[in-house]
Amino acid sequence: MFDSLSEGLQSAFKSLRGKGKLTEGNMREGLDIVQRSLLEADVSYPVVQDFMQHVSERALGKKVLLSLRPEEELVGIVQSELTAILGPVDSSLHLKTEGPTIIMMCGLQGSGKTTTCGKLSQLLKEQKVTPLLVAADLQRPAAIEQLKVIGQQLDVPVYAEPDNKNPVEVCNNGVARAKELGSRVVILDTAGRLAIDEELMAELAKIDKKVSPDQVYLVVDGMTGQDAVNSADAFNKALELDGVVMTKLDGDARGGALLSVKHVTGVPIKFIGTGEHFDALEPFRPEGMASRILQ
Ligand code: GDP
Repeated sequence: MFDSLSEGLQSAFKSLRGKGKLTEGNMREGLDIVQRSLLEADVSYPVVQDFMQHVSERALGKKVLLSLRPEEELVGIVQSELTAILGPVDSSLHLKTEGPTIIMMCGLQGSGKTTTCGKLSQLLKEQKVTPLLVAADLQRPAAIEQLKVIGQQLDVPVYAEPDNKNPVEVCNNGVARAKELGSRVVILDTAGRLAIDEELMAELAKIDKKVSPDQVYLVVDGMTGQDAVNSADAFNKALELDGVVMTKLDGDARGGALLSVKHVTGVPIKFIGTGEHFDALEPFRPEGMASRILQ
């Protein structure tokens, strides 16, 4: 069971084991190690507190102290609680059998939203489904061009209206085009901003209302820690999210923000982005992430 935890935590638990029988006292020492590790991984404080309460209740139960290998049991409890709150696993795009499935992508500028539109297109193409990409990010001057390039690279059609300044109309017309083309999926690349603002949220809420997407995914940058949590909270309040994609987990970030984002939104983490290429998208696996967070 130790295999699934990272080295730092393993050795900390091993030193506990070296002290002989596990007692309530050194069990608490073990729990402190876990708490420190979560805070260092950028998990927000209220989430850590909540998590530690669950783990402590289970770990300090008599059964654990009486078990033959209590330290392994403690590791198991931490791992299973973390896996449970990071789950459930749901990487399905929930495609409808009839009519285009509308997927709306939202997120702050630079989070990796447009790149993730490309990654999802590649994933769909692997399933023999060619989506229609809709360039509805009218804020960032280069965004339409960026999506067109992605479309060319992946051989996926892109709907754009460079002279239309109304993103609600562009999305609506894009969905109409998808129906004409018989596309099974239409992906809306909506605008981001550098920071959360009311205008952005009002625009997204209008698109949501007018177009009624089947799936609304929030893209968050895994490198931004607490900011990712704050933006997830704001998007979740303005829109009914169906899933989260956390990008840039190919870097050093331990991914603690994932735990907090999951906590504030309550929606499944669908995928993680692990690079700039279109194939760098992985279905989210809570077990692997739990180990990474608990380094
Ligand atoms: P948008 O403004 O949210 O549409 O962001 P972009 O899709 O333009 O991405 C911003 C930058 O992040 C680009 O340089 C992307 O190549 C990069 N990026 C996106 N996803 C990932 C990822 O998972 N890992 C890494 N390393 N870079 C990424």
